[in-house]
Amino acid sequence: MSRLGRAISRVLLSREVDAPTYERDRVGDVERWDERDIMFARKDFFRYLGTDSPEYKAYYEAHPEYLEYDTKIGNMPGLGKTGAPADAPMFETQFAMTSEIGLESFVNGEPAPDKVEIPPERAAQKVKGLARLLGADLVKIGPLRQEWTYTHVGRGANREGYLRLGTPIDLSHHSTAIAMAFRMDYRLSRTGPDFPTLLATAKGYAMGAWVSVQLAQYIRMLGYSARAHHLNNYQVIVVPVAVDCGLGELSRAGYLITREFGSAIRLAVVTTDMDLTHDRPVDLGVQSFCEHCKLCAEECPSRAIPMGDKVEYNGIKKWKLDEEECYRYWHVAGTDCSICMMACPWTKPDNWFHKMMSVPATIAGPHQALMTWADKLVYGKYRSAPGPDFIDPYKRYRR
Ligand code: SF4
Ligand code: SF4
Repeated sequence: MSRLGRAISRVLLSREVDAPTYERDRVGDVERWDERDIMFARKDFFRYLGTDSPEYKAYYEAHPEYLEYDTKIGNMPGLGKTGAPADAPMFETQFAMTSEIGLESFVNGEPAPDKVEIPPERAAQKVKGLARLLGADLVKIGPLRQEWTYTHVGRGANREGYLRLGTPIDLSHHSTAIAMAFRMDYRLSRTGPDFPTLLATAKGYAMGAWVSVQLAQYIRMLGYSARAHHLNNYQVIVVPVAVDCGLGELSRAGYLITREFGSAIRLAVVTTDMDLTHDRPVDLGVQSFCEHCKLCAEECPSRAIPMGDKVEYNGIKKWKLDEEECYRYWHVAGTDCSICMMACPWTKPDNWFHKMMSVPATIAGPHQALMTWADKLVYGKYRSAPGPDFIDPYKRYRR
């Protein structure tokens, strides 16, 4: 393509905007979340605290509304049970490493006493370059909005994590976030809901831990405060942080959608007080695409993704995923599910079809209808969704 052609396509397809697309749906203030109240934290209370512990009893006295669901999930078999004996350790080894480097001593630390002065634009290049060298597939930098920080520690997936349960979180000294995406293997993820997709998920989280911990350490060695946030030690909600950084947009399915890999990614973040040039948020057209498409909602076996309109939820109108129903299905299937990710037209492999997903807003409506139709034609319906307790029997992974 000529230089002029490249310049024209950059202008036409550049989707950078002044404010993240969720700002158009803001209806009030966002209340910060207590991490103890999120579903992934609560399921670990059962496992790590034990039902007789004073912490467990105190939590459910304060939140009786969660007890029935959490007890049911706690008594179900864990994920990975559909893999053969030689397979399960493939994902367990990745999660074990991720847990170990989720310790506070890995994600956080004291900055070096002397600061290395670097102009913000050059510093941003260096940080992005190192992140990519270490294995991040996408890296963007943006503001850290305090509304996306948790109020209290709720997770840990290791002994130390549970010693810190309920500790107040204060990241007000960090004004910048570095958001990174790690691509999930497309062929493994296509097998969901079956064991191989769990390997793709585990690798995404393991890579996120590996890269974020080193990147935070690098910034501290330059004399600035920096903290990694990955699977076992988050202090921020990573999806809206990634939206603020310009990695993509929030979708109907509740995941981040990126232009490059759709929603088949895992995220990790580093927050810092280092002065880094910020990227801008993007409008890829996901909001209007999701309004018409609904493929993920049609294919979701647990009906956790809404077919209807956005609803008001903690200050923002959004499509509200039923996380509890989704997670219950994972336990029924014994693995991650990934059906919604793989059903999404944005997630399809990087070919001409994928490149046509994001177009100028003026032709968005007819284009989106065409792309949804073409997705079904080219890739077929992912599979018909037969009900909440469905386990796909024909893709059992046995070696
Ligand atoms: S059950 Fe599967 S398809 Fe439905 S929301 Fe959860 S991961 Fe997506
Ligand atoms: S499958 Fe369609 S509706 Fe669902 S997230 Fe993707 S684009 Fe949006």
